[in-house]
Amino acid sequence: RAKEQGKNKYKVYHSGMNMESYRRFLIQNDIRKAIQSEQFTLVFQPKVNLETYQIDSAESLIRWNHPKWGLLKPIEFISLAEETNLILDIDKWVLKKVCEQITYWKETYNKSIRVSVNFSAQHFLQRNLIEQIKEILEDTNVDPTLLEIEVTETVLLRSKDSVKQTLEQLKELNIHISLDDYGKGYSSINYLREFPFDTVKIDKAFIQEITCPQKHSRLIIESTIALMKNLGLNVVAEGVETIEQLNLLKEFKCDEVQGFIFSKPLSTNDFIRYVDKHKQNSSIIDSQWIKNN
Ligand code: C2E
Ligand code: MG
Ligand code: MG
Ligand code: MG
Repeated sequence: RAKEQGKNKYKVYHSGMNMESYRRFLIQNDIRKAIQSEQFTLVFQPKVNLETYQIDSAESLIRWNHPKWGLLKPIEFISLAEETNLILDIDKWVLKKVCEQITYWKETYNKSIRVSVNFSAQHFLQRNLIEQIKEILEDTNVDPTLLEIEVTETVLLRSKDSVKQTLEQLKELNIHISLDDYGKGYSSINYLREFPFDTVKIDKAFIQEITCPQKHSRLIIESTIALMKNLGLNVVAEGVETIEQLNLLKEFKCDEVQGFIFSKPLSTNDFIRYVDKHKQNSSIIDSQWIKNN
């Protein structure tokens, strides 16, 4: 859609610009406005603990309610925002909202839910990152142990020592640190040793291979999870959609599951309703698992 818009307008107004750069220009301009006029919104996807079947945590995911193009998913604008420093403003907006949300859930419903935010690699080039985060923590009065930051391995490919130092500083603030999308890229096991992660999230592409008969996929995933657990990491499986995947992950002692099998990302109100409903139903889920096993 963005492309079509860009193409039409380009023909009319911007004969000097090429289409791709004009499309970028349009979206990047819109992002600036969107932050000011609160067009972004957050949805929350539950992570279900496979031992207790409780929901102790969730991932925040951004959506853009664009005045012309409707509800946009991150794939339509995050990489464009990453080409400029706009991603820094977006993620900081998300971080602030999430901290406020954590505090709200705690104060209003007496629920301690740890919520993660996705942080693009650019943040790790910012000298004052830690100061900025500290300021948000103070402003929102959030319990930092309920805050989680997810980074992908692209962060780790940059200057290793400074990234490691930054992650350690985040840990000193008692923030939970996760490696996202494990198994999507090169995903060296060494990253898990070298950097101070609390959690590793296995990518949905990797999870989908779990039931595939070839390539020893099942064995590889089982051993990977065992290794991660032996390293003391909390293991989350992303993109779990089927009961077969769930059963295997339970058997492999994976700690938490995030996926459509339990829930899509939800609005704040739906999320709280889901947590309550899920609590009542967790025994049913458990017996269903036993039945299927
Ligand atoms: P991610 O961090 O790996 O988030 C998980 C993505 O998988 C989400 O897509 C979620 O809706 C989707 N998902 C969850 N369970 C299932 C499932 O069972 N099946 C399938 N097919 N998909 C599932 P979403 O919300 O479209 O986000 C895509 C990516 O955009 C995220 O991947 C993350 O890298 C990025 N992103 C999202 N929000 C933010 C943000 O606030 N800041 C930054 N920098 N990046 C963000
Ligand atoms: Mg993530
Ligand atoms: Mg992921
Ligand atoms: Mg990701």
